[in-house]
Amino acid sequence: PAVIVAIDGPSGTGKSSTSKAVAAQLGLSYLDTGAQYRAITWWMVTNEIDVDDPAAIAAAASKPEIVSGTDPLDPTIHVDGTDVAGPIRTQEVTSKVSAVSAVPEVRTRITELQRSIAASAERGIVVEGRDIGTTVLPDADLKIFLTASPEARAARRSGELKGADVNATREALLKRDAADSGRKTSPLAKADDAVEVDTTELTLTQVIECVVTLVEE
Ligand code: C5P
Repeated sequence: PAVIVAIDGPSGTGKSSTSKAVAAQLGLSYLDTGAQYRAITWWMVTNEIDVDDPAAIAAAASKPEIVSGTDPLDPTIHVDGTDVAGPIRTQEVTSKVSAVSAVPEVRTRITELQRSIAASAERGIVVEGRDIGTTVLPDADLKIFLTASPEARAARRSGELKGADVNATREALLKRDAADSGRKTSPLAKADDAVEVDTTELTLTQVIECVVTLVEE
């Protein structure tokens, strides 16, 4: 039977690297749900929809066609046929994604997409996000909630962003966490039955091993 693994947590906890590696090792599909929220945000920005106008976002939420490729060795994301893997990582999209993803119509739309992708993964799938264990796939076989100290998370993120200021990165990250945790519809949260893994003192290899072991148990 297909195995469903939900990996949630804030950014900078090693969620994406862990999820991709676990999926690759176990021969499962992989879905980056943050990339989907970034993709719809990119579309809103590109089409000059005011991200501070929830009604405008709600009205446009069903317009873009979002397609995720689920190979953990080559995950892809397209909007209306355009490869947006690069553009969804800009600072502009990152700063606007929490506002867009707080709109209930956006969440309903993206959640449906996520469920249909998970249901069609023959061998199973690792799905990473903020609300996978609580809302999107509450019946997942295994739920992981990754955490790390704000310092460790900021250091990892500014490392990825090559030389970005650690303090500015830390502030931006905490601001996004607060918005994601504070929204009314399916906020960033640990499911009651999730296994919490604090990655502050762990290497990526250790986190991957830990999750693989939990899946195999
Ligand atoms: O994981 P990543 O940092 O790329 O996610 C970008 C944003 O997408 C998050 O800050 C959050 O606003 C939104 N998101 C969400 N629900 C998810 C995954 C991401 O609201 N399941």
